[in-house]
Amino acid sequence: MLHGLMMQMPLLISALIKHADRHHGDTEIVSRRVEGDIHRYTYRHLHRRARQMANALASLGIRMSDRVATLAWNGYRHLELYYAVSGSGAVLHTINPRLHPEQIAWIANHAEDRALFFDLTFLPIVEAVAPHCRSIRHWVAMIDKEKMPATSKVSLLCYEDLINSHSDDYEWPEFDENLASSLCYTSGTTGNPKGALYSHRSTILHTYAIALPDSLSLSARDVVLPVVPMFHVNAWGLPYAATMTGAKMVMPGGQLDGKSLYELFEQERVTVSAGVPTVWQGLLAYTEASGLKFSTMNRTVIGGSACPPAMIKLFQEKYGVQVLHAWGMTEMSPVGTVATLKAKHLALPPQQREAVQQKQGRVVFGVDMKIVGDDGGELPWDGKAFGDLLVRGPWVVREYFKGEGGNPLRNGWFPTGDVATIDADGYMQITDRSKDVIKSGGEWISSIELENIAMAHPAVAMAACIAVKHPKWDERPLLVVVKKPNAQVTREELLAHFEGKVAKWQIPDDVVFVESIPLGATGKMLKTKLREQFRDYKLPSVA
Ligand code: AMP
Repeated sequence: MLHGLMMQMPLLISALIKHADRHHGDTEIVSRRVEGDIHRYTYRHLHRRARQMANALASLGIRMSDRVATLAWNGYRHLELYYAVSGSGAVLHTINPRLHPEQIAWIANHAEDRALFFDLTFLPIVEAVAPHCRSIRHWVAMIDKEKMPATSKVSLLCYEDLINSHSDDYEWPEFDENLASSLCYTSGTTGNPKGALYSHRSTILHTYAIALPDSLSLSARDVVLPVVPMFHVNAWGLPYAATMTGAKMVMPGGQLDGKSLYELFEQERVTVSAGVPTVWQGLLAYTEASGLKFSTMNRTVIGGSACPPAMIKLFQEKYGVQVLHAWGMTEMSPVGTVATLKAKHLALPPQQREAVQQKQGRVVFGVDMKIVGDDGGELPWDGKAFGDLLVRGPWVVREYFKGEGGNPLRNGWFPTGDVATIDADGYMQITDRSKDVIKSGGEWISSIELENIAMAHPAVAMAACIAVKHPKWDERPLLVVVKKPNAQVTREELLAHFEGKVAKWQIPDDVVFVESIPLGATGKMLKTKLREQFRDYKLPSVA
């Protein structure tokens, strides 16, 4: 056995901020604050304040591996905590403020959080959950001193006081790269939420992978605006990838409407952004209505749920913004695949190129995937056979925090709960969440495919396809549609729109128009809610 003779240097998150300071010290971080103004500073300032905060955390009694929670928007203070908490060896637990307060308290207790840092927007949540959180000793409001609330039901510390009362004299400690760095709970539509506990090593490897040219292709020439929240799987890793590459960061705070985002894109010369399809819908509705174009944005990452083909077309053909359709999950840090083209696709006409981009994409190096049938046997990569999608890799969970839910792996592979095809070029396409699949007469119908077709209709703002019970076919698809404002379309016109696009037996049985479709805490359509709502729905084919 001959070992290599290279240095053993642990892969630590603190190295990212040291690097950004040293090599990109004057690169800006621009944040829209809860205070209402735009704040700017540089990586040098970020590093200094992160060191001050690391000293402050020690003074609050936070030790190695203690969990420190946040309830916060994307902003510079949240970024400081990303580095101060993980860099000092504690564990950053980002909580999704859109969860129900009961769930937030449950998660904080399960994680045994020692302190919770929050944006003032979330003071009502803090006041509601504080009496139920058993382990939290310190509640810290991330706000300027003069904006601190005069009274509160909870005894609060001021973030800026903490920073100002500590020096920046701090050496980032060196420790085992396999120690925990951060914690995210899955949305947990069934059962209790489960914690994905990332390590320094898994985070750094994931960061390298997402910055690659065929992933998000990030560089020191980019200006990155993560719309995806820092409480949703670490904003898909962008807060780490920006310091690794030296990209400028623009943080939108809580103002995620089309107008506010557009203004930031233009004012700060944003080149790349990332978010779920529902956010882009808001932005595109605004630009379409106002006749605006993007002057600097050249690509955007869309994931979290399937990107409708109509959105890819609009972004690319009208706005000249390349769509990077990506797939992943909390359990995967989160990025697994990105739909970037290969050389052989470049000469294809736009429609065929977009057909490739509609798929969820190729794995980034480090992730291994396969699809299996009901018997567990591997299925061919022919773009047709579909089955359970399994993954493995150094940034994929091997078990949940505190062993919740038992061993999640199947022979060393993590079952994603998604159903997918993989084609001969390695492009994976999700046909459904396994529990959303519609089973009609023993055949599976892809709800995502039907939704994509519906969304391509000019009158449709949002569409969800769910299974409803059928005496003969077991289940049949029902299309639930939100129309665009002032748009007109009938049930018959929508059903006719499916003809020739899918097999006749896959066309939905009926259409219902609704005011809105319920969305979950991470912007995904809540099909469980819709299925409940339409549980007793009588299809015309049954009546
Ligand atoms: P979460 O852990 O909340 O990020 O949810 C992960 C799940 O979101 C995946 O297992 C997929 O079901 C879904 N998802 C993420 N990205 C995509 C995508 N690009 N297309 C379709 N589904 C997606």
